[in-house]
Amino acid sequence: MEFLQPATWAEALEAKATHPDAVPIAGGTDVMVGINFGRLRPSLLLDLTRVGELQEWATEDGAVRLGAGVNYARVITELGDRLPGLAMAARTIGSPQIRNRGTVGGNLATASPAGDAHPALLAADAVVEVASVRGSRRIPVTDFYTGVKRTAMEPDELIAAVHITPPSGPQQYSKIGTRNAMVIAVAAFGLALHPDRRAVGTGLGSVAPTPRRAPAAEEFLAAELDGAGLWDSRAGLPEATARRFGELVADAAAPIDDVRGTARYRVHALSVMARRALTWAWAEYRGTDTPDHPAKEV
Ligand SMILES: Cc1cc2nc3c(=O)[nH]c(=O)nc-3n(C[C@H](O)[C@H](O)[C@H](O)COP(=O)(O)OP(=O)(O)OC[C@H]3O[C@@H](n4cnc5c(N)ncnc54)[C@H](O)[C@@H]3O)c2cc1C
Repeated sequence: MEFLQPATWAEALEAKATHPDAVPIAGGTDVMVGINFGRLRPSLLLDLTRVGELQEWATEDGAVRLGAGVNYARVITELGDRLPGLAMAARTIGSPQIRNRGTVGGNLATASPAGDAHPALLAADAVVEVASVRGSRRIPVTDFYTGVKRTAMEPDELIAAVHITPPSGPQQYSKIGTRNAMVIAVAAFGLALHPDRRAVGTGLGSVAPTPRRAPAAEEFLAAELDGAGLWDSRAGLPEATARRFGELVADAAAPIDDVRGTARYRVHALSVMARRALTWAWAEYRGTDTPDHPAKEV
């Protein structure tokens, strides 16, 4: 196995253009598992860890431009206030070791339906910046996932960064697994309330071939909040609204039975997580510690 180690972004793009089959490696927490288990036998690895540009984040046009090589530990410590939804998701990922190595760019490129960054990025309307020697382009994260572990990237492209606008309202992330830590999601849900544009964002994980949104649930909730003047009044959220939102989120799922859970369990779990996430987010929006209608135990 050969190993390329570019020192700059330009060199990395040149290397990928010359060797489109080269497998990029960032934190290595997916790539090395693939190699060690014999699922991946790349003839060429493209090590991106020396490319300083990928390790940086900055604010650009009001959005955070998060370099693809920024690890989860830094998302939590450096960006927890600006990107609360992504930081919440990052806190659920692996162990401290994995959070110190694993990157958002690696999660995006693996494009596992269970990847924890995806629901948060979907809910926040993130945009993925990919690049090649031909130039760079931006792909709304909704269009980035094209199939199970497939993305809209061309073979000569690398992920440069992801652009995420800091929220004008609360964000939430919920994940259900078979144990409390170091666990792949059985189902996951990300929520963002956008009071500035009176919109709602959702992201569903582990319940379909790709991470996806729940457009009908988003439209329903935005219309309910608008129609009842709740964005302005910040009055309590009717329980029926939260419940219907949960049902519509669950309707957007297309899960399978697998070793981690049944499709039926996933759909049920998703509706509960969505209802609870909304209840917590709304309580935060209202500035109340305790929601008016705490989610009932199920
Ligand atoms: C013990 C353990 C626990 C884990 N727990 C979780 C978890 O709870 N939640 C979760 O979501 N994931 C989890 N993972 C999976 C993994 O940590 C994440 O997917 C992580 O984000 C991968 O990032 P990385 O930098 O390590 O990627 P790498 O392994 O370096 O790369 C992953 C993929 O991305 C590609 N790639 C990397 N950087 C780029 C780039 N800039 N441009 C284009 N392609 C690129 C690689 O070629 C590869 O296909 C876990 C893994 C392990 C080993």
